[in-house]
Amino acid sequence: MLTFINKTSVLALFFILSVVHFSALADWQKKEYSTMGTNILIEVHHADAQIREKAIAKVTKEMERVNQSMSTYIDSSEVSRLNASAFAQNVKVSNELFELLTLSKRISNITDGAFDISYASVGYLYSFPDKTKPNDEQITALLGAVNYKLIELNDANKSVRYLHKDLKIDLGGIAKGYAVDNSIALLKEMGIKHALVTAGGDTKLLGDRMGKPWIVGIRDPRDREKQAVVIPLSDSAMSTSGDYERYFEEDGKRFHHILSPKTGKSTYEVQSVSIIGPLSVYNDALSTAVFVMGLEKGIGLINALPDFEVIVMDANRKMHYSDGLIE
Ligand code: ADP
Ligand code: MG
Repeated sequence: MLTFINKTSVLALFFILSVVHFSALADWQKKEYSTMGTNILIEVHHADAQIREKAIAKVTKEMERVNQSMSTYIDSSEVSRLNASAFAQNVKVSNELFELLTLSKRISNITDGAFDISYASVGYLYSFPDKTKPNDEQITALLGAVNYKLIELNDANKSVRYLHKDLKIDLGGIAKGYAVDNSIALLKEMGIKHALVTAGGDTKLLGDRMGKPWIVGIRDPRDREKQAVVIPLSDSAMSTSGDYERYFEEDGKRFHHILSPKTGKSTYEVQSVSIIGPLSVYNDALSTAVFVMGLEKGIGLINALPDFEVIVMDANRKMHYSDGLIE
């Protein structure tokens, strides 16, 4: 008899726990897909399935909107149109693009030019899927166009002019972070309290995971199945730049997508840089910048910025942290 009661209560308890577990899971919705040449992951929590559905649709739409406006792979994008005509004339741009260009130049200033959207003046000659890169002569011929100071921004009428005929910009080092910030802002507006949005290496978290932090991983740069580090985070954001995202190898050398604006070539001092800070748009650009600046100068910069922390894996796979993470 006792056994029977025990069995029943164990079964009942099991049932209750399953229901609790199921309903907790049921309040979450997840979507994974690809756009902007990268993987998107959206996870939202809300008791109302229709709101979850709407939230996911909103983020998807926002990602696509940013892609259509800022991709250099889309000829009709605002950025492509700017690249096509801003040397010959002043080109009026949307407030949104004007602000992002202003921010990009500000980040160039604080990173001593390591982050520079005009890297693309040379960068466009690299194609990682096709394993092609410019030769030294081509790089030398175009390097004079890599200089953010030659992107003239006219505040009065929100117009842009390039002061070099070969200058081209690309927002690949900042637009994903920007889209992630916008996405989280949209979710917040809808009353969502717990969410994660990731675009490639850029992740932002709204709230926690119902009492537990989110666990955000930094991939091992040389083993895509492994995490080098996992970080518990809530209500924060982290961006990672790595030499493994887009690259090809030739004669034993890795040519990857993060280029020094000084040389027009990939940099090799570090393999991965992750920035933790409140805004993805900054995290994104700063992770690219620190990658270019290298270990000492890069960590020095982040230690001087109060709201940001950095985790670096150097070329010998040794981990390094900003002061705020080890003090
Ligand atoms: P991803 O998340 O795509 O890996 P990262 O944040 O690591 O991007 O930034 C790399 C991208 O930034 C490159 O694919 C390129 O579009 C752009 N980029 C490369 N070098 C620079 C640079 N020195 N300054 C600004 N943007 C850069
Ligand atoms: Mg970046």
